[in-house]
Amino acid sequence: MMNPLDARYPFFESARTAVETAEISLPELVSRGAPAVERGRERVQRALLEGTVRPETDDVDPETELLSYPIARILVSLLDSTAAIDKYAAAEASTAIERIREDVAREDDLRSTQTTNLDLDDVLAEFDLADDVQPDDRSHQGHGEQWYRIDVGAYLSLSSSSWGREWRLVARELDEGEVRITGADLFELLETAIRDRIAAGLPFDLPREEGLGAELEPQVTDLRGLLSDRTRVHDIDVVAPELFPPCLRNLIDKAERGTELSSVEGFSLMAFLAGIGMSADEIVAFCADTSLEVETLRYQLEYLRDESGSQYPPPSCETLSAYGICHNEDDHWKVASHPLAYYETRVEEVDSDAITDWRATTNA
Ligand code: SF4
Repeated sequence: MMNPLDARYPFFESARTAVETAEISLPELVSRGAPAVERGRERVQRALLEGTVRPETDDVDPETELLSYPIARILVSLLDSTAAIDKYAAAEASTAIERIREDVAREDDLRSTQTTNLDLDDVLAEFDLADDVQPDDRSHQGHGEQWYRIDVGAYLSLSSSSWGREWRLVARELDEGEVRITGADLFELLETAIRDRIAAGLPFDLPREEGLGAELEPQVTDLRGLLSDRTRVHDIDVVAPELFPPCLRNLIDKAERGTELSSVEGFSLMAFLAGIGMSADEIVAFCADTSLEVETLRYQLEYLRDESGSQYPPPSCETLSAYGICHNEDDHWKVASHPLAYYETRVEEVDSDAITDWRATTNA
């Protein structure tokens, strides 16, 4: 019988062994269109657009969930983009560490009844850290928070100087080759260990024209459609919601009614608002009183824009139509093939004195 933990942590050795011993053929899964293929595509899509790999619905059976992981790895390899692999690995690691936090907390609560079966020692052993990390005995002399001691070599390999001053060794208590860290620090370090394991071996070297590469072409094309190359979008820089294209107005209406947006809908809306020059604070203010959560918004916006100011543009009209987001109201595909181009045209058509920038009506 399958261990349910394998579906939650498909990158654990036990999960890999389970897939190997079941002698499951990935090409066969793909050619018969098994549910794991669609879930694998969703896994990559949510990783790239939202930074999570959790399924959108809770009814995915554990076997599908487990098998979606090797499929996702193949798909992200076929995307042939280092940035996509980095984002994918980071999203897998972020979701996994959230789950580990949940499972370890539950295990602590229920230690006496032993109804869950993942504790911190299991996780440390999984990443060969059992000898490198020990609980710090002095924890209980303070305010009850559990501290740990980690071997300095492991600390240095799992942390990064780019994380800020508090992670530098000089800012840490170092004693006999061990660094004192909090429980929260330990989870951050474990997240790196998970990310490194996920990224290891990616991308697979797969020909795109034959075999799995050819069979998965539709899924890869879908994902590519969502993630056109990062480009510097035109400097529109005026926020006139009444001139937004209908696809975006529909999404805003939907979110204002409190309906949750799908990952593609949320991404399209965020990429559009960022694409017309709105800052993260402005977008958060603009989306107040909608179903969109501030934390998710900020996370997604960070994903969209990089330091150079270039960003993912929203998907094209063709892609939005394929996802059922565009209904081609008023036949306006004739106006432009991209929502940003459509908006730019509308802004140019209207007398600038007649436009009130939304930013002038708010304190954002
Ligand atoms: S044609 Fe393009 S801009 Fe117009 S509603 Fe459809 S997706 Fe939006």
